[in-house]
Amino acid sequence: MSQYTYQPGRVHLLRVPTGEDLLGTLEEFVTDNDIQTAWLSYLGAVQTASLRYYDQDELEYCDFHIHQHLEVLSGMGNVSLLDGKPFIHTHAVFADSSGRAFGGHVNHGCVVWALEVKIEEFEGEAPVRQFDEETALSLWKHPGSS
Ligand code: ZN
Repeated sequence: MSQYTYQPGRVHLLRVPTGEDLLGTLEEFVTDNDIQTAWLSYLGAVQTASLRYYDQDELEYCDFHIHQHLEVLSGMGNVSLLDGKPFIHTHAVFADSSGRAFGGHVNHGCVVWALEVKIEEFEGEAPVRQFDEETALSLWKHPGSS
């Protein structure tokens, strides 16, 4: 298990404008505000969703799109460093007009209708992502390891 321990830092509340790309807007905010270590959560609605599913047998992402208006029931994610830059990893659960839920790894292409976001920063050295042989994903490395 990898564990990092932090003290709380700044907390940001954002409203993402209609028509913006969900992930792209969060990436811009994080970069502009030099946020390297954070946890984020959000809710609202999107006009269309673009998601990914990681196939654990094939070790690759499968992209899919849901071309309809959806509620964002629950989104969460984090910010850490990948290749020395802030990187957002976020998943979300969406629902259609009958309440059926879909979800996945959030990709670029989720178009916001309305979105309220909380970003909680943490004080201290950011977790660093590095390639993990077993999963073929960039995961947090063990603190102190090279
Ligand atoms: Zn993911």
